[in-house]
Amino acid sequence: MNIKQNEMVRKMARELVKNEVMPYDKEMDQTSEFPWHVMKEIAKYGAFGLTEDPAYGGAGLDSYAEAIFTEEMAYGSSSVAITLDAHYLASHIFAKYASKELKDRLMPQITAGECIGCFALTEPSAGSDAAGIQSTAHLDGDEWVINGQKAWITNYSVSGFYLLAVLTDKSKGTRGISVIMVEKGNPGLKFGHKEDKMGIRGSNTGEIYMNNCRVPKGNLIGELGKGFKYCMEVLDVGRHLIGAMSVGVIRRCIDESVKYANERKAFGQSIGKFQAISFKIADMKIAEETTAALTEKICALRENKQPFSVPAACLKAYGGQRAVWAADSAIQIHGGNGYSKEFVPERLLRDAKILEIGEGTTEIQKMIIGNSTLSMK
Ligand SMILES: Cc1cc2nc3c(=O)[nH]c(=O)nc-3n(C[C@H](O)[C@H](O)[C@H](O)COP(=O)(O)OP(=O)(O)OC[C@H]3O[C@@H](n4cnc5c(N)ncnc54)[C@H](O)[C@@H]3O)c2cc1C
Repeated sequence: MNIKQNEMVRKMARELVKNEVMPYDKEMDQTSEFPWHVMKEIAKYGAFGLTEDPAYGGAGLDSYAEAIFTEEMAYGSSSVAITLDAHYLASHIFAKYASKELKDRLMPQITAGECIGCFALTEPSAGSDAAGIQSTAHLDGDEWVINGQKAWITNYSVSGFYLLAVLTDKSKGTRGISVIMVEKGNPGLKFGHKEDKMGIRGSNTGEIYMNNCRVPKGNLIGELGKGFKYCMEVLDVGRHLIGAMSVGVIRRCIDESVKYANERKAFGQSIGKFQAISFKIADMKIAEETTAALTEKICALRENKQPFSVPAACLKAYGGQRAVWAADSAIQIHGGNGYSKEFVPERLLRDAKILEIGEGTTEIQKMIIGNSTLSMK
């Protein structure tokens, strides 16, 4: 761990969030418009290529930096943090498994934030049961022909490159799933309806249709039939980053609650003086410290190339639930004002709920943790 580097990343991200992200979070929530201007600003600070190879314009930082940056973004806006998270899932797979030719052409745009990424696994009838995807791709001469539908895809209509998980051999189960890259503007790629979400409304989520979508044979990412493995591998990273988001959300809940508890008076004193309020804030602090510690532990595992699927599932399950609880508690501390859109906590609660659903629900995380723990004993 490079402590000095981590401190620098945190300081830079905090300034960036304060000046370029937080001022727009309420507007994103109200308009549900994708915040291109925010993305352009954060791109100048290397946000889209944080851990990527400097030879391709990336910042070459480590997973500590990625987690810290994600946490800070979530403090200011879960919409922005989730947009980056989806981009990171796609860019990590692409950087690790795409051909040199594809990387030479696209990585500089990806790291510059000019080509946002999209990781498309979920389909209308395959979410938790991701192995049940139905979209297909077959070779026709030197081209893949892709057909099917993806649902609930983050960055669905704002991306420059799309990583689609598709069946290339139906008879082989998960070993028949491959990842194929499609670029923006492909005539076979169509966008369906945009989801009208309860939270993270500044993020861009919707359906994608592939209708005889043709791409060169070389757009296969990595090896044929290894797509499911790549998806599961990168979802571990995603769960780590969702955990980092929960740290940021909990910290924001604490800050909003402390400010209000010190200002608001009842029965002749600040409400923070009531133990019922201060204990809620103490429990939030415990949640922040524990999720932050687990987030950091996973950074160490990632850096040392150790397995981290189970700790990442623990972090996602625990962090997501604690973030939702912390936002609910922040509303309670704000009393009637907590129920108003004029105050931040109600948005924090609506935004935090995605942490219990996206990239594997809490139930699926518990399934992973339970199965693994039982088989070890
Ligand atoms: C805002 C948003 C953004 C998203 N972005 C992306 C994206 O960029 N890319 C992408 O591929 N997907 C994305 N998703 C999809 C997301 O990963 C799925 O919604 C999630 O995995 C759950 O799948 P599902 O919605 O089909 O729910 P289902 O699988 O239908 O689950 C419904 C309920 O049943 C429970 N359940 C299911 N199976 C079990 C089981 N075996 N044991 C116990 N309980 C079970 C679930 O926990 C859940 O409570 C996004 C979703 C949202 C809401």
